[in-house]
Amino acid sequence: MIPPTVAIVGAPNVGKSTLFNRLLGRRRAIVSDVPGVTRDRINAPCDLYGAAIRLIDTGGVMARGTGDDMGRKVRDEALKAVREADVIVFVVDARAGVTAIDTEVAGLLRASHRPIILVANKVDADSVEIAALEAYGLGLGEVTAISSEQGRGIDMLVDRLRALLPTVTTPVEEGVPIAIVGRPNVGKSSLFNRIVGEERALVTPVPGTTRDPVDAFFVHVGVRYRVIDTAGIRRRSGRGENIEQVSVQKARESLDRAKLVLTIVDGHAGVEHQDLAILGLVAAARVPGVVAANKWDLVTSGPPGSATDRLAAMRAALRFAPHLPIVPISALTGRGVPDLLGLVDRVRLESERRFTTPELNRAFKKIVAEKQPPADRGREVRIYYVTQLDGTPPRFVVFSNGRRVPASYRRFIEGRLRRHLNLESTPLTLGFRRRPSR
Ligand code: GDP
Ligand code: GDP
Repeated sequence: MIPPTVAIVGAPNVGKSTLFNRLLGRRRAIVSDVPGVTRDRINAPCDLYGAAIRLIDTGGVMARGTGDDMGRKVRDEALKAVREADVIVFVVDARAGVTAIDTEVAGLLRASHRPIILVANKVDADSVEIAALEAYGLGLGEVTAISSEQGRGIDMLVDRLRALLPTVTTPVEEGVPIAIVGRPNVGKSSLFNRIVGEERALVTPVPGTTRDPVDAFFVHVGVRYRVIDTAGIRRRSGRGENIEQVSVQKARESLDRAKLVLTIVDGHAGVEHQDLAILGLVAAARVPGVVAANKWDLVTSGPPGSATDRLAAMRAALRFAPHLPIVPISALTGRGVPDLLGLVDRVRLESERRFTTPELNRAFKKIVAEKQPPADRGREVRIYYVTQLDGTPPRFVVFSNGRRVPASYRRFIEGRLRRHLNLESTPLTLGFRRRPSR
């Protein structure tokens, strides 16, 4: 298994490395009492009361630099952590109070949609606990007050951390199955080669041959992916066969086995009938994914404004699946490919999210307060509560008094639920059920 990664970020001197050592069960091994002593980021395997993780300390570098330099450095480290880590522990110093850098980093972390634990450190005594409250102002939710030096609050922190670790860990030999689908000539095989060429990749040859590989793996931000039907992606279609039909059929087969899907369209030529057939399958299969608008190099070298127009046209063609992100890329130059993979990772995390019933009901209360469901033939529609079913991508069930809820109101609920829960890009389903009578 690839262990989940936890990164500790924050301004210099807030106590990141003290916390790092505390979590590793070491005592003051690398901590320096001299503020701003330069130290590289370090990472270590760590056992969090039985859960294996990789822990990254982003370092206490730059305290001697000017304020701007220091801010930039801390921001860079936070951004790196956002890319690499499954969970981010953001540390502020309760004694020193919230600083401008803290506020800035908090904004950046909020925007990342990563799971974040906000920690107010140096709460060595009850009397300091009140100082930790200031950190609520950062808008990152619950503040965990700890003292890395004394060990206070560490159990609470570990509990919260463990609750956020990805629940679906994938055995190394497996990998998250990802399908690459699209009509002929959109650039599937070019993109495949690009990804496999740039990421840490492994292509297993068919035993006894040197021809088509059966399975290809690549690792991106610590997650191992297995590309479905590598051979099919690479094989050039023969002349005689009906290659258009074959690509839809192949997409169907791959989707059956996929946990994620990359749909490639030709961003220069635009979305055609055949693309829509494939995208319709993708939407119906509810496999989380991203659409790559490939050959964008041809678009950007065209007349100004054409990129915006093309994206708008694609968005319009995809109105039946508004959550599907569209990312312009060029498999030829490699531009946009890191963004694409970053988004794939984000969609995967989103699709695995779990919400408690109270959490859902809090969101739901707000939604219904904003707009009441319209009456059904004069009868009031009542909504009692919402809950999430098992499995991915998220499925929610809304229990009501069984009256008809019109499609427009369902769409309203889905849109608002996505907003309140930060579920931007994953497919989700919303079912309505009559509450069983008591
Ligand atoms: P970093 O730069 O964020 O990695 O911070 P360090 O871990 O190097 O700690 C900076 C200073 O804060 C050191 O002098 C630590 O001894 C001190 N420190 C760290 N944690 C605590 C704590 O919980 N309470 C107090 N009072 N001091 C702490
Ligand atoms: P597949 O049939 O979907 O696997 O498509 P290929 O990867 O074989 O690509 C079809 C053609 O498009 C080839 O001639 C590629 O060189 C070309 N191509 C692929 N990606 C790009 C790109 O990003 N930009 C440009 N300009 N051409 C591309």
